[in-house]
Amino acid sequence: MTVSPMMQQYQEAKAACPDALLLFRMGDFYELFHDDAKTASRVLGLALTSRDKGENPVPMAGFPHHQLESYLGKLIAAGLRAAICDQVEDARQAKGLVRRELTRIVTRGTVTDDALLDPRESNYLAGIVPGEIAGLAWVDLSTGRFLAAAVPSEQLAEELARIGPVECLAGDDAGEIPTLPGMLITRRPAWAFSHRNALDVLHKHFGTQSLEGFGFVAEDAAAIRAAGALVEYLAETQKTSLGHIDRLVPYRLGTSLAIDEASRRSLELCRTLREGRREGSLLAVLDRTATAMGSRLMAEWLANPLTDRASIDARLDAVGELLTGANLAAELREQLKRVHDVERLLARVTTGRATPRDLSCLARTLRVLPAVKARLTARASVLLNRLETEIDLCPDLRARLDAALEDECPLVSREGGFIRAGHSSELDGLRELASGGKQWIARYQAEEATRTGISSLKVGFNNVFGYYLEITHAHRDKVPPHYIRKQTVKNAERYITPELKDYEEKVLSADDKAKTLEHELFLELRDAVAAAARRLRSTAEALAQIDVLAGLAELARERGYCRPQIVDEPVLNIVAGRHPVLDAMLTSGSFVPNDCTADGELGNILLITGPNMAGKSTYIRQTALITLMAQLGSFVPATEATIGIADRIFARVGASDELSRGQSTFMVEMTETARILNTATPASLVILDEIGRGTSTYDGVSLAWSVVEFLHDEIGCRTLFATHYHELTELSQSLSRIQNLNVAVREWQDDVVFLHKIVAGAADKSYGIHVARLAGIPREVLERARQILARLEADHLDEGGRATWARRPQVQKGQLQLTLFEPPPHPLLDEIRTADLDNLTPVNALNLLQQWQQTLANTIAAKPR
Ligand code: ADP
Repeated sequence: MTVSPMMQQYQEAKAACPDALLLFRMGDFYELFHDDAKTASRVLGLALTSRDKGENPVPMAGFPHHQLESYLGKLIAAGLRAAICDQVEDARQAKGLVRRELTRIVTRGTVTDDALLDPRESNYLAGIVPGEIAGLAWVDLSTGRFLAAAVPSEQLAEELARIGPVECLAGDDAGEIPTLPGMLITRRPAWAFSHRNALDVLHKHFGTQSLEGFGFVAEDAAAIRAAGALVEYLAETQKTSLGHIDRLVPYRLGTSLAIDEASRRSLELCRTLREGRREGSLLAVLDRTATAMGSRLMAEWLANPLTDRASIDARLDAVGELLTGANLAAELREQLKRVHDVERLLARVTTGRATPRDLSCLARTLRVLPAVKARLTARASVLLNRLETEIDLCPDLRARLDAALEDECPLVSREGGFIRAGHSSELDGLRELASGGKQWIARYQAEEATRTGISSLKVGFNNVFGYYLEITHAHRDKVPPHYIRKQTVKNAERYITPELKDYEEKVLSADDKAKTLEHELFLELRDAVAAAARRLRSTAEALAQIDVLAGLAELARERGYCRPQIVDEPVLNIVAGRHPVLDAMLTSGSFVPNDCTADGELGNILLITGPNMAGKSTYIRQTALITLMAQLGSFVPATEATIGIADRIFARVGASDELSRGQSTFMVEMTETARILNTATPASLVILDEIGRGTSTYDGVSLAWSVVEFLHDEIGCRTLFATHYHELTELSQSLSRIQNLNVAVREWQDDVVFLHKIVAGAADKSYGIHVARLAGIPREVLERARQILARLEADHLDEGGRATWARRPQVQKGQLQLTLFEPPPHPLLDEIRTADLDNLTPVNALNLLQQWQQTLANTIAAKPR
């Protein structure tokens, strides 16, 4: 079978990126062939046709080249990779087959097209090297942010969840790696992760001899390996400069509040649990930023709340000052609205994709800086002062951009029209010639008309021979001899003159030259921006922080938040706390605020009982969210709050509340609970919502019971436990640090009203039957239910009326408690214990033994199987 030269070219390109869909540029279209075409037709809804119809038809699908961005977006959203093969020479000038080259490979983690990125979200590509101390590196190609960490293997999943990468690289020998919903896993050859290769790649990329300058030490070897593989992958897929990735920052674990993936999801920090939407998450409430950079930083702060009191207080001081300073936050926010996404813009500048409009956006941003800086000078807050000094006004660059650029600039530099008049005398001259030349032609036409006496004489233009003079046949005899005839058309003849051609040459070339010069000036400006990249980047980072802080101040003002008092002791004291998200969603004032106190004295394990829909879950979540907000430096929805710094927050929702996940949910619930029991420390905050509900009642109660006991005895951390098992309230009789709370309920006009008010004490036991009565269940049924309930309860009550399971076996601290229900002592044991051996004859002894055997046989026979 013969293959056309073009298909051969296609096959070569395809061989270079076998696991990507190849978008092959042919004229004005991108075409896909073979299986790629089938996939594309399915994912993109393109019509499947065929090429080389006949014996061996090749499946084909395609789309017009100007729709590349939108189709690329769809392919990437579907988790596919796309390789783009462009024509790299002008088809008209090509001798034979036009030359084509792979220009880039696009995946989720390597998208740079602005239209395909959410300005409010970072777009991280991660790399993992598994191991006892695993390596983890992550880079956002759209901003140049690049970090790496050495991570104990058991914390790898948690760290990955904190970063939330969209794509993750791992060696093809790396085995199974932790994953996240929606994360693309890309396997790479094992050698790409080797230490030798990583060092080579990184040294070459950064132009360094060692990575110690970045703060890496010998123990970070795995982190370096992961980082090296990332740069290798970017170089392979991007095929452009990666100059904006100019440093690798070591990330040290333990500097932020740890929250595992399940807790993040369950607390709905960035997305809602059911719909996965940003709306309805804590982030959506907190994010009042005015810039895209601020928005991304807000998400980062939320993912990394602090654990160091001084740093938290520094942020709170700043928010406090922005809040109290007359109009300070509002004015800053007004200024910040005019700040562009300098981080992503800089990435485009260094990778050579910036447009004139990018530069004018930067110029506009620089113009805002003096006002922002002025508002921040001489502040009491140390952080605000520091940020003020970090804003570099870049006056030199600003003057240069302002002088050079028009206010509104186009997206392409080659068409010109964006350099201000007066900036370059050469450009001004060319422009004058270009437009002046056109004027000259008008004048020339008038003069020739008079000179020849042909008033209808016209100057025209066509692509074949440029400017010409057109004279109708009626005036043919008046044509001067120096006119050179070029063309005859229906009613006229067309002529040229040397004079006309001279000017034409100057005019046309002036226009071309002006455009070329403008493009050159653009490149110079772009280079000037690139040269200032470091100063601009740190300014951008400062602006993002100011934006976040001002946003938090605005939020605090609008929703009446208070400044939390941060302490190191593991206590909580929240007065009139509100759930930040529900509070913002409900009509003003309808959320019922609640207090929460957990400390050594009152008890740090709060057991909240009450019927479904009473507000238990809301209450325990709001406590976790308030703690988290305080630690990230935000004011909190309460009238007063003392927050002891937590090292970890755990949040678990019982299996039946999370049916949507469709796994063996009870297994998941127990695995996650095990993790809490194994990793929580006395400084942690644990919230458990309906744990144990995913199994039978007795199983469930027993598990819930022993979990609480373990948290109380072994860990002693602040715990909020919401449950509808009122049996658990008995725990307070044997455990000293338990507080029983319940949700107040009122009957009203034959209906139950949930007051959502948390009050001290255990919930009303007969509540379920009570509700059933209100709902109109027949009297006989209710009566019967009451009898059954009484019987069930009696079966588990001792003589004193206490639940038998509340009686605790005496165990040493540290010893595992396996039983909840002690077996009753066998009557024989007493007899053995009290037998008077001193006065027992051998015969009597034998008789006694036989008697005991008999008793034993009888009791076993009496027990039903
Ligand atoms: P439970 O966990 O007891 O089943 P939830 O905490 O899920 O109950 O609360 C049920 C609903 O009650 C919530 O969706 C919310 O609309 C409302 N709610 C809960 N707490 C409050 C409150 N403090 N103020 C106002 N409405 C509340």
